[in-house]
Amino acid sequence: MAQLIDGKQISKEIKDELKEKVAALKAQGIEGAMAVIQVGEDPASSVYVNNKKKACEYIGIRSESYELAESTSEQELLDLIERLNNDPKINGILCQLPVPAHMDENKIIRAIAPEKDVDGFHTQNVGALVVGQKGFVSCTPAGVIQLLKRSGIEIAGKHCVVVGRSNIVGKPMSLLMLKEHATVTICHSRTSDLQAVCKQADILIVAVGKPKMITADYVKEGAVVIDVGIHRQENGKLCGDVDFEQVEPIARAITPVPGGVGPMTIAMLMNNCVQAMTGEA
Ligand code: NDP
Repeated sequence: MAQLIDGKQISKEIKDELKEKVAALKAQGIEGAMAVIQVGEDPASSVYVNNKKKACEYIGIRSESYELAESTSEQELLDLIERLNNDPKINGILCQLPVPAHMDENKIIRAIAPEKDVDGFHTQNVGALVVGQKGFVSCTPAGVIQLLKRSGIEIAGKHCVVVGRSNIVGKPMSLLMLKEHATVTICHSRTSDLQAVCKQADILIVAVGKPKMITADYVKEGAVVIDVGIHRQENGKLCGDVDFEQVEPIARAITPVPGGVGPMTIAMLMNNCVQAMTGEA
């Protein structure tokens, strides 16, 4: 039976460590505040935004909410971001994506000052990751690294196959594994014989966005399998990009969905918020 990598437990550990860190900073007179922006009322976005606010409250960081109407113009949003960039009391700016279709998402991301970009999406932060400099790292891939490290899984020298090359998961994930000295292969929709490539992986990280696509045929006996995917099935239950029932018996370690990578994203976001307070990033 595979070791179950418990993201719920590990994310709680991280949030509790951050809570202590924030209390220690407060004792030194250092307080933090995050601006949380939501444009429109997409229900899924509202859930994410609420979770972020709750997580801030849990670790002791103040959050300021900016709920803007769907009809807000791009310029109005840019003006708000500019104001928050210049507000010394605000350490981090979280603009919930996606923004409405009449706005240019890349322009919005670029407008956030890199030192307040706690999501790690700004090209300056992405570039810093590429060249191995300090900066904010995209939260989901950063969470995967913590899951592996805190579960005692060695990364250096291992062959890691990442399935997916998106800007928020696949690409930064690959760079982080490279930084941890893995040998990294990146796969995508044009990869030929995906199954054979995946089967070479000591550590297989899947962020493909296709429910249960990775079956036992893609996995080497004894591999570590990290499932970033999250989907709501017709029966109402959640599943990942990996067929857990098939893969679990042959893997050495695996993340469940839910309770694997999912909870780590918000924990790492909080980590970035604390880094924004201390100027560590
Ligand atoms: P994207 O849709 O942006 O990217 C999917 C990637 O998978 C693309 O690079 C695409 O290739 C590749 N791909 C698609 N189909 C295939 C295929 N048949 N074979 C090989 N590669 C394929 O998704 P994201 O990276 O944003 O998210 C991936 C998953 O992770 C989703 O299920 C999402 O819900 C989940 N997610 C979970 C988070 C969490 O907190 N747990 C956070 C973010 C995402 P190409 O580039 O060629 O099109």
